Amino acid sequence: MNHARRFIARWMLLFFPIFVAIPLLPQSLRQDLANAKNDARVEALLKRMTLDEKIGQLVQYSYNTATGPGTTRDDYPQLLAHGRIGSFFNITGAQEVNATQKIAVEKSRLHIPLIFGRDVIHGYRTIFPIPLAMSATWNPELVEQAARVAAVEATSEGIRWTFSPMVDIARDARWGRIAEGAGEDPYLGMAMARAYVHGYQGPSLRDPTSMLACAKHFVGYGAAEAGREYNSADISERVLRQIYLPPFQAAVEAGTATVMSAFNSLQEVPASANPFTLTQILRGEWGFRGFVVSDWTSIPELRNHGIALDDATAARRALTAGVDMDMQGNLYATVLAAQVRSGKIPESVVDEAARRVLRVKFAMGLFDHPYADESKSPIKNLDPEHLNLARRVAEESFVLLKNDPPSGGSAPLLPFASRPVTIALVGPLADSAENMLGSWSLDGRPEEVVTLRAALAERLDANQGKLLYAKGTEINTDSEGGFAEAVSDAQQADVVVVALGEDAKWMTGEAGSRVHVDLPGNQEKLLNAVAATGKPVVLVVFSGRPLVLNWAAKSVPAILEAWFPGVQAGPALVRTLFGDVNPSGRLTTSFPRATAQEPLYYDALNTGRPAEGGLWQRTTDLSRPPQTPDEKYVSRYVDMPNSPLYPFGYGLSYTTFAYSKVTLSAASLSAEALNRDNATLSVSAEVENTGGRAGSEVVQLYIRQQGTSVARPVRELEGFQKVTLAPGESKRVEFTLGREQLAFWNIDMKDVVEPANVTVWVGGSSVEGSEAGFTIN
Ligand code: BGC
Repeated sequence: MNHARRFIARWMLLFFPIFVAIPLLPQSLRQDLANAKNDARVEALLKRMTLDEKIGQLVQYSYNTATGPGTTRDDYPQLLAHGRIGSFFNITGAQEVNATQKIAVEKSRLHIPLIFGRDVIHGYRTIFPIPLAMSATWNPELVEQAARVAAVEATSEGIRWTFSPMVDIARDARWGRIAEGAGEDPYLGMAMARAYVHGYQGPSLRDPTSMLACAKHFVGYGAAEAGREYNSADISERVLRQIYLPPFQAAVEAGTATVMSAFNSLQEVPASANPFTLTQILRGEWGFRGFVVSDWTSIPELRNHGIALDDATAARRALTAGVDMDMQGNLYATVLAAQVRSGKIPESVVDEAARRVLRVKFAMGLFDHPYADESKSPIKNLDPEHLNLARRVAEESFVLLKNDPPSGGSAPLLPFASRPVTIALVGPLADSAENMLGSWSLDGRPEEVVTLRAALAERLDANQGKLLYAKGTEINTDSEGGFAEAVSDAQQADVVVVALGEDAKWMTGEAGSRVHVDLPGNQEKLLNAVAATGKPVVLVVFSGRPLVLNWAAKSVPAILEAWFPGVQAGPALVRTLFGDVNPSGRLTTSFPRATAQEPLYYDALNTGRPAEGGLWQRTTDLSRPPQTPDEKYVSRYVDMPNSPLYPFGYGLSYTTFAYSKVTLSAASLSAEALNRDNATLSVSAEVENTGGRAGSEVVQLYIRQQGTSVARPVRELEGFQKVTLAPGESKRVEFTLGREQLAFWNIDMKDVVEPANVTVWVGGSSVEGSEAGFTIN
């Protein structure tokens, strides 16, 4: 038998039982990566590979420098033909992808297909709200649907791997990438991590619309000191395990096929060369069977971190720590082979990394179907159902921060009545299609965005109303040239909508850290000038982070946080402003009163001298010096309350909700039974819509444990449910507390439940709720 026929016969033998078995297997995403038959195929292939071919699987290049610094190589076709590349990214379009794939599949000796990746972060062409906004929906099912749409669109253009979700916990609003995650809380972060992984990967990795997920950035990136991008993080092992790791573990348990190692160092060990996190925890403790890709050039950057004097050492440290694929670093490609040949790196380490990459390639069916279907690419028009979903997600992500009556009025300013009115629309974000797309929307198109201005014009046309529009100012300028027109428009209007905020691409996202998290330039001044007309003002804030909104909170009756809402920004906002939908978003990050409060997060420890027994200092008078030692020696600032302006979990509605007393199924539980997973407690409360409109409330369950061997936060989220209620309707909402919610890493670094007094709250934010208590004996 000649070589080619032997090759085909061998593959047929290996493939046949799998084709028969696959439909019968109970498929879960995790099982996709733990399939004995796939493993056998991987081993058979590995045996036939040369060292250079194995290393080739560990090499990834970008077609261009769209998403990072440096240069690209110009010899990709030759490298591909020699099996020296395992994955490509930043190439789109089924035809383009297939042309590249063809070289790998037809010209390379072993015909191993490439995986094509892309940062598909909050939608592919149908751009959804930024991830921070998506988290504010507190609706994981909706987020899963959005991720599914992103996967369907991206895979139709040949992309089978996204570098998402970013599951970094971010407690510091200065950090630009707070925009890309689910905020400050690990419990919510876990729910969102699962939702994205399920949505992207679908029910089976083999499905042609399945897009590999990549949980990033492993780990601690969000704790960058002082919120400065790429800065070091110093996180104790306990906080790492309690706060930063859980969303990654949730992604792994949900079956994420890949994980990305981070840029930062973590307790002096760069995350892209950290055996403790990449091997001991990720593989050893969690049993992750997919592969780890580095971040963009994070392997050569190990030299800047100072843990490698040369490229060879950098590559060796990364690989042996557990980074399987070198993204754009060009080091595995150039310096690994010599080190294996000289015995510095055991070949088994390269084998293991290649095994992980090949395992994923087999699991996703790439060897059987390496090519993308060209019939749907390029995408021409956005699917109306996708647009509809994008609008719904945006609507659920808006957080109504304030809604008072305008001066002289008695009813809250929002929603607007549908009778004819003249609205003045002012501000640099009112008609900025580009900014609505957020910081990570490589394939979104500004011409597909409906801005607030466009949607408002349409609505007012239909209502026989009138729209006046003036930009007023730029996002970041001192020039007040446009103020007069804005003020004159305001004077002629019944109501003014002021659209202010950040520049999405420059001031938020990667490399978008800020030392002042406020409205940039002279935007607050513009707001001031417009508000001085005495006309009722609604401030709509577009931002990728919590902003300091003190002045606005004091001076205008209504504030809506809109984040960067995506292609359907305008329609979603107009439907919200006019009350077609009732806002139901809740904050997933604390809004500070001053940047200097950062890092600011609700699940903090209490300190030995808390300003007030409970969560936040609320009453101490800051207008005068402390009068007594008791007043002086407390944990507080002398010039600002400790509390955020708007806390985690907070958000208003056009209706109101009331909570009954909390009912617990028991007054005490035994720690021993909880640790055996043999006991649970149910917590329930009735929530009632006490206002005049239907609305959705995010019912939140918080706990506090006292009397434990280590200090526990003043509150921790341990459950949430979004419920929709008609006016007057009420519903009993029930939660379960068990080992999963009550265990923590104790003084001996054991993840256990300890005897404790537990306080429980069920309510509408992290600073309110009905309270009850039980003990763990
Ligand atoms: C970012 C990653 C991203 C990668 C590829 C890096 O600069 O940190 O989040 O996935 O580039 O574009």
